[in-house]
Amino acid sequence: MHFQFRKMASTDGPVELHEALDVRHVAKDRKDITRISPLQADLKAVYLGDNEVHVQGNLSTELDMTCSRCLKPLKKQIGIGFEERFKYSENAEDVQNEEDDIRYIAEDDVDLVPFIEEDLLLNLPFAAICKDDCKGLCPTCGTDLNERECGCDREVVDPRLAALKDFFKQ
Ligand SMILES: [Zn+2]
Ligand SMILES: [Zn+2]
Repeated sequence: MHFQFRKMASTDGPVELHEALDVRHVAKDRKDITRISPLQADLKAVYLGDNEVHVQGNLSTELDMTCSRCLKPLKKQIGIGFEERFKYSENAEDVQNEEDDIRYIAEDDVDLVPFIEEDLLLNLPFAAICKDDCKGLCPTCGTDLNERECGCDREVVDPRLAALKDFFKQ
């Protein structure tokens, strides 16, 4: 998924970019993401003048994940609004400053994939749950507490309170 500044400058109107990207490596360190569908990128590039290009559109994919509480498989739809401004500059590294949100690029050809992957990485769900009130697994015996109550004593006692309890026993 590329555009070229020079080509954009000589094109009338926006350029549509559509592609399905293999993004499996983006989530390779995430054990709770078991599969990631090709990411559909539907973008529109507009030349703003003065070597500047605005790219905007939508990214969408589907993740197969495991519930962070009960480990059941679940699917998660991801939709991300993509928006970046690119400006051609021969000394891109020098002019890049944190305060404006323009990406300075020293090449005529711009590969959008790294920017798309960065957005996806930032938008991966941190910990998915199968339902809001998922009760999870019993930490003692591993029973899925959505299915049945195992009867284990799971009361988590604050060590300071435990000491107090002992104190009152004396
Ligand atoms: Zn769950
Ligand atoms: Zn249990």
